[in-house]
Amino acid sequence: MAEPESSSEGFDQDAVHEKYLAERDKRLVPHRADIRDLETDEYFARYRDDPFTQTEQRDPVADDVDVVIVGGGIAGVQVGARLRQAGVGRIRIIDRAGGIGGTWYWNRYPGVMCDIESYIYLPMLEELDYIPTERYCSGDEIRRHLENIAQKFDLTDDALFHTGVTRAAWQEDTARWRIETDQGDVVTCRWYVLAVGILNLLKLPVIPGMQEFGGHSFHTARWDYGYTGGGPRQALTGLEDKVVGLIGTGATGIQCVAPLAQSARQLFVFQRTPSAIGERGNRPTDSDFAEGLAPGWQRARMDNFQSIMLGRPTEVDEIDDGWTHHYAAAQNAPRVEGMSVADYMRSVEELDYGIMESHRHRVDELVADPTTAEVLKPYYRYICKRPCFHDEYFPAFNLPNVTLVDCPAGMDRMSEQGPVVDGQQYAVDCLIYGTGFEAELTPLFHRVGQEIVGREGVTLADKWADGASSLFGMLSRGFPNMMVMPAPGQQAVVTVNYTQLATLGAEFIGRAIGQLQGRGVQVFDVSARAEEEWTQSIVDSFVDPSAVLSACTPSRINNEGHPETMNPRNGNYGRRLGDWFGYRHLLEEWLEAGCLEGLELDTRADPR
Ligand code: NAP
Repeated sequence: MAEPESSSEGFDQDAVHEKYLAERDKRLVPHRADIRDLETDEYFARYRDDPFTQTEQRDPVADDVDVVIVGGGIAGVQVGARLRQAGVGRIRIIDRAGGIGGTWYWNRYPGVMCDIESYIYLPMLEELDYIPTERYCSGDEIRRHLENIAQKFDLTDDALFHTGVTRAAWQEDTARWRIETDQGDVVTCRWYVLAVGILNLLKLPVIPGMQEFGGHSFHTARWDYGYTGGGPRQALTGLEDKVVGLIGTGATGIQCVAPLAQSARQLFVFQRTPSAIGERGNRPTDSDFAEGLAPGWQRARMDNFQSIMLGRPTEVDEIDDGWTHHYAAAQNAPRVEGMSVADYMRSVEELDYGIMESHRHRVDELVADPTTAEVLKPYYRYICKRPCFHDEYFPAFNLPNVTLVDCPAGMDRMSEQGPVVDGQQYAVDCLIYGTGFEAELTPLFHRVGQEIVGREGVTLADKWADGASSLFGMLSRGFPNMMVMPAPGQQAVVTVNYTQLATLGAEFIGRAIGQLQGRGVQVFDVSARAEEEWTQSIVDSFVDPSAVLSACTPSRINNEGHPETMNPRNGNYGRRLGDWFGYRHLLEEWLEAGCLEGLELDTRADPR
């Protein structure tokens, strides 16, 4: 299943613009991004219930620990591990999930696997002496690996699962954070670490009449195997006599389609925007692979990927997949010396057009019915939407029980029987929402799902109401002894491979808290000057993306069609895709210097 070579043959800039804008306009409709507030919406709150682990009643906990970490996913277990290595005593992970794994705890839908190469996506492979079994391994394998990290670093026994933090307040008198939870716990801690990730809040759209639907329904992040039968890699035997509707064709939706197609009597796939889906090329790990790896290989491999993503010269492409071929090329078009800006912009578009044409050709190659194939073709620039990679998605549309339903402006409404699109009723037994998560655009203070009260009663929501304000995107003045794992939209750097960012954040926080403890610091806060300087540097390096992104199909990347509303203060370190290597160097130098520059330190005796 070779991917066709990119070709920009037939590139007519005006015609391409026109087509892309027409496709954008079909989707740029009012209320397209409206979502349910699952904190307050009682009818739909059940969509958040945990179908995987029974909730056990327990007595509320009241005690004091050294560190509370909110979140037990890729970020939380890594920061826990680094804090252990720094000699920190009692560490307590708190998570709404029933166990370790974060997004990989919740996302157990059929076909779930990573689409970033496993060898750079699963963290701490060298420390755990583990090599993933496949180039893109299954969600189960990732979750088990994260559980193994938690076990190795003794992070599970003290953890509180099925527990949501409702409020965290800084106590000046005891120099502790006071953490309250929805299970009645009151835990105090010296250091408070937020590691909630970006995929923790599932997104349920507002579709008129959703409450009327009389069949079964759930979100992909809470897959109901009790109803569908089977498992992530097993046939869904409960669907043999069922008509299923899947809403959403992003990275999640496209992974579910083939297993659903194999099991359901009939599958309707409701597509608002087609994804650009390149070759995945999964394969078992070669038995020789592990033997050839030298110490330090994982960091080097992550760096190789990141270098290619940023267009830095590299001798070899170790990953050699759709990310390094297409994503890197589209983001880093070469500039010939002396080229005018207009010519350069045209060449960038032409290159992007070639990449998208190869994706459109791929649809023609794999989908037999030309009408269905046409609807599956993405007409926008490659940089407009997170790309996807899959080899079984398109062929599923050749099966007689699979129907694609095109609804670029969304559905008309939902009836008791199911979705209504363009006046046509689609009667289904089961509706599955593959509608994603509140990711980059939802500010940290909302994503954390709790009220955070800092010095003098100021909340993080108040302080960040007009945009983030931080040092390194991890520390914020007025919130002493609190550290936030780096993520998009909060003045840290961004990476395509989120794990690499979480690895760096964990190393930084682990070592920084180690140094603070080593120096007998009871309380640190960010100095006003350090925060002002960092925030200003973020604002100064912000590149207004409106000119390019306003022509894009609406998505998270362009603020659902409104890139002009992007707040420079919620930008990232470095221009455009970010200066990952500069950011890491800066953090490592800061740690090496050991003088905790930019922090105000209080070394009084423990006031408790
Ligand atoms: P997503 O990319 O946000 O996709 C959501 C889908 O739901 C889109 O197709 C969207 O259409 C559709 N949708 C939303 N509201 C709708 C409505 N009212 N009517 C019809 N369709 C609607 O979410 P996701 O697929 O869950 O992926 C989220 C992120 O998870 C990814 O970006 C990725 O970072 C991560 N992920 C990673 C992997 C991996 O392998 N590593 C796998 C899965 C997910 P529009 O496109 O028109 O908005």
